[in-house]
Amino acid sequence: MSEVKNYKEALTHSVFKTITQASANLQLESYVIGGFVRDHILQRGTAKDIDIVTIGSGIELAKEVSKLLPNNPKVQVFKTYGTAMLKTEGIEVEFVGARKESYREDSRNPIVENGTLQDDQDRRDFTINALALSLSKSDFGNLLDPFGGIDDLKSKIIRTPLDPNITYSDDPLRMMRAIRFASQLNFKIEKESLEAISKNKDRIKIITKERIVEELHKILLSDKPSVGFLLLEKTGLLPYILPELIALKGIDEVEGQRHKDNFYHTLEVVDNISENTDDLWLRWSALLHDIGKAPTKRFSKKVGWTFHGHEFVGAKMVFKLFKRLKMPLNDKMKFVQKMVLMSSRPIVIASEVTDSAVRRLVFDAGDYIEELMTLCEADITTKNPKRFKKYHNNFKIVRQKIVEVEERDHIRNFQPPVSGEEIMETFNIKPSREIGTIKEAIKEAILEGEIVNEYKAAYEYMIKKGEELGLKVAKHLRI
Ligand code: ATP
Ligand code: MG
Repeated sequence: MSEVKNYKEALTHSVFKTITQASANLQLESYVIGGFVRDHILQRGTAKDIDIVTIGSGIELAKEVSKLLPNNPKVQVFKTYGTAMLKTEGIEVEFVGARKESYREDSRNPIVENGTLQDDQDRRDFTINALALSLSKSDFGNLLDPFGGIDDLKSKIIRTPLDPNITYSDDPLRMMRAIRFASQLNFKIEKESLEAISKNKDRIKIITKERIVEELHKILLSDKPSVGFLLLEKTGLLPYILPELIALKGIDEVEGQRHKDNFYHTLEVVDNISENTDDLWLRWSALLHDIGKAPTKRFSKKVGWTFHGHEFVGAKMVFKLFKRLKMPLNDKMKFVQKMVLMSSRPIVIASEVTDSAVRRLVFDAGDYIEELMTLCEADITTKNPKRFKKYHNNFKIVRQKIVEVEERDHIRNFQPPVSGEEIMETFNIKPSREIGTIKEAIKEAILEGEIVNEYKAAYEYMIKKGEELGLKVAKHLRI
């Protein structure tokens, strides 16, 4: 027999001693299992959650642990799953009784019976997630690794403990999890597993949208999200999840003119932006910024390939996509729409940066000008070093101008310098269309740089515009 490894240095958090004591009180064997053990060995920073499996009732154990803890934290019981959770010192601890699972065709929720530790390890998704450390007094910290999970951690491999065909078919969410871990940890999915995912891809249909999105978020938040999206594409899962991206794949050629492959371009943009931001929704924006290009693609002899209005079409598609995936249709969705809609604006003005174009850009982007610039910089994927440098320089100039214009004109969060009430009072008129016309004219004059964004200039401009419209300044205000 090979030597037993011990990882008690992973178990310094005081809650582990308490679990050991509680288990002894109830005469239960308990183990810490899964992500906590994996992430300790990978040195992935401090864990936020701990999974405990006990040979017996997880709920009973959780209650005993709470009793022994200084402030007796509340135990949350999930009866249907036979699990319980409590929070202590900023960490969530989940308790479950060891179980054996068997699956039916139509659901990812198994029939569950009590089992041994080995049964429980068998039901885990990957060898690297089946690692367990004993919490018993006699062998505290000893590793139980029946499937060679440690070796797979070392060789960076995602592998299922049992036959991958059965594992993925039983619970197809595991296909998403495999790809998500490959992306997060930069691991390879073992060949048989990859084939099994391709084979079972259609089973993804039984997984709820919410769970799929949860995994998509994690893929997007990994260091290099393209790893995950390329795997989704390679295994054939992507068309079930984000057909809009698949539609961007491929290069067409007509009369010797080709356009770039917008799928691979998109993935490059996502990787680029991930070096500069951890904002999930900005990363989503990068992923979706070109989706309008598939339905708007045209070829004409005169100008070659065009994607007219793809930003507008893309923004509309964002809504449908969020709705289909049951993602929130809230300000996050609106933010992504805005980014997609405006994604070409800085590029258009970069070749000739005028003050008024910059003012309009800042006016339209509002609070999100910074994010928009980050997106556009990530969008530069040219392999020509000269052009790469030129485009980045142009954006530096745009950024500089944004600062200058902002200091001078305060366009961000633009508030009309003259109010509707003041216009009514000045010309002694009731609410009417003229008021909107005058307000709009003032705004335009400011954005065009005809007048500065100040009260006095705007007031004078209002008088001028009003008189042009045939209005007369109220008697008591005439000088
Ligand atoms: P993270 O918390 O970083 O997402 P994790 O591995 O801890 O990673 P959890 O979803 O917290 O993932 O699950 C905890 C453990 O439960 C996993 O390590 C794995 O052993 C097991 N597990 C979770 N989901 C599944 C599943 N769908 N099939 C089999 N085992 C699973
Ligand atoms: Mg976890």
